[in-house]
Amino acid sequence: MKPDAVHDVLFDEAQIAGRVRVLAQEIAAVSQGPEPLTLVGVLRGSFIFLADLVRALHRQGVRARVDFMVLESYGSGSSSSGNVRLNKDISLDVRGQDVLLVDDILDSGRTLSFACRHLKELGARTVKACVLLDKPSRRAVPAHADFIGFTVPDEFIVGYGLDYNHAYRELPWIGRVPVEGP
Ligand code: 5GP
Ligand code: MG
Repeated sequence: MKPDAVHDVLFDEAQIAGRVRVLAQEIAAVSQGPEPLTLVGVLRGSFIFLADLVRALHRQGVRARVDFMVLESYGSGSSSSGNVRLNKDISLDVRGQDVLLVDDILDSGRTLSFACRHLKELGARTVKACVLLDKPSRRAVPAHADFIGFTVPDEFIVGYGLDYNHAYRELPWIGRVPVEGP
């Protein structure tokens, strides 16, 4: 696929920045405890979103710690399969801590439900989830995000951290690519 195949911009830089600012306000409104909020990003798709979100949270007076976990669904390409594997765990101790899980997109729900369960097993006091994008039409297992950037239709989304076979993560906007079906 050529770069110019990303012809549809769904959300441009200004729209993303505005939405991240509002998300940070929503998160700040419910995160004013004495302890810093522990942000756990799911790699690799969340890295740009988390980087913007943590600075927007700072502007709202929220102190944060940051860690990442690497999760992969078996297989590659545009559709995730049924199994989620923990490839790299977090290093911070989250026992008794309030954790904000940060992911790029909520699709079938398997990644988010796996990650929330895992963080609770590690002893987090509370686990809330923030996703940049939600594709509710694709949900296969129950999964709940407390904070959602944008709801998107069932199309393949790239940019602002999201890839198609490792390409397009660097795009500053969010777009869709045409993907041939099976
Ligand atoms: P789930 O486990 O909810 O099915 O899928 C979540 C993961 O699948 C996301 O973190 C992301 O890596 C990948 N994914 C699902 N839909 C899309 C999409 O439209 N574009 C991209 N780039 N990744 C997606
Ligand atoms: Mg992902």
